[in-house]
Amino acid sequence: PRTWLVTGVAGFIGSNLLEELLALGQHVVGLDDFSTGYQANLDDALASPPAVQGGGTFRFIKGDIRDIASCRKAMKGIDFVLHHAAMGSVPRSIDDPVTTNSVNVDGFLSVMLAAREANVTSVVYASSCAVYGDSPMCPLTEDATGSLLSPYAATKLANEIYADVFQRTYGLQLVGLRYFNIFGPRQDPNGAYAAVIPRWIDKLLNGKTCEILGDGETSRDFCHVANVAKANILAATSDRSIGHSPVYNVGCGKETTLNELFRMIRLGLVGFQPSISASQPKYGPFRDGDIRRSAADISKIQQQLDYEPTHTIAQGLGQALEWYVEHSAKSASTEQERVVAAAR
Ligand code: NAD
Repeated sequence: PRTWLVTGVAGFIGSNLLEELLALGQHVVGLDDFSTGYQANLDDALASPPAVQGGGTFRFIKGDIRDIASCRKAMKGIDFVLHHAAMGSVPRSIDDPVTTNSVNVDGFLSVMLAAREANVTSVVYASSCAVYGDSPMCPLTEDATGSLLSPYAATKLANEIYADVFQRTYGLQLVGLRYFNIFGPRQDPNGAYAAVIPRWIDKLLNGKTCEILGDGETSRDFCHVANVAKANILAATSDRSIGHSPVYNVGCGKETTLNELFRMIRLGLVGFQPSISASQPKYGPFRDGDIRRSAADISKIQQQLDYEPTHTIAQGLGQALEWYVEHSAKSASTEQERVVAAAR
């Protein structure tokens, strides 16, 4: 077993990384300030049978990645860093570019400086397909470029530039993973910045209408978070000579339109709630700046890191839907207990 630092551990991807590492018997330190993450995500990851049976250990530090003292404290004895703390939404960055920049760029520097001081073996950091901007290429290879469409995209490209500089200047081993549209258990369905899959599942389970922005023929490469966990572990531990601060696409390499996605989620939920079969989406205006098609070319990560997605979109959705159904039943019964207790 080795010791791993997961920043953003209370978030969607971070808590799934925690669960996978514990299942592999690893020692994990987590750093998070709960700005968009939850204690419930940690509790859920820690209680999962594979994590419990794996026998790893977990230590949590509450702190802001912009605070170098918190980063230094978290970095003690760390072999591998999986940096996932960030403000992670395009619309949020358009509403509040200053906070997005501060967390995603200043915070990134603070984590990298502490990692360098602690002499860690390698750092894997979350980048995004947003760095391709309006590139019309589909599927996208890592050398594609386009005009960036949000402050969020600018911060992720800034991370990649800094990673390259840190590797050249300080010899820190860094790998960037450009995530496409990641989904799975513990992705937040609530709030103005929620991603489409958890938002639609939540709406369908609660008898509400899903909104599709545009005609529904916009496509994305939806990728289950289990594939992301695998990519992180391969990227951190690869002993191949893979060049300076490489970046890799992480997706499934397959396009799915929003219309197809809606039908898949509806079909998957009918077994739990038959009435959902009658649900129809409502179509709204296209969102400004949304690109029409997006999919990853994953040949680089397949060739250099032996990455192969273990979960297709259909397998991943099946697993995620089960989790959301069980979770929404649990929160409904907790709410019922709360109401009964209040009435007493
Ligand atoms: P998330 O919001 O669920 O998780 C981010 C976590 O970081 C949260 O727990 C939050 O509390 C924590 N955090 C934020 N600011 C912090 C700070 N200043 N100090 C300490 N902790 C802080 O988001 P996610 O979807 O799990 O995304 C994780 C990473 O992956 C982010 O870097 C995001 O940009 C990137 N990414 C995600 C996707 C996706 O589809 N989910 C796609 C591309 C890239």
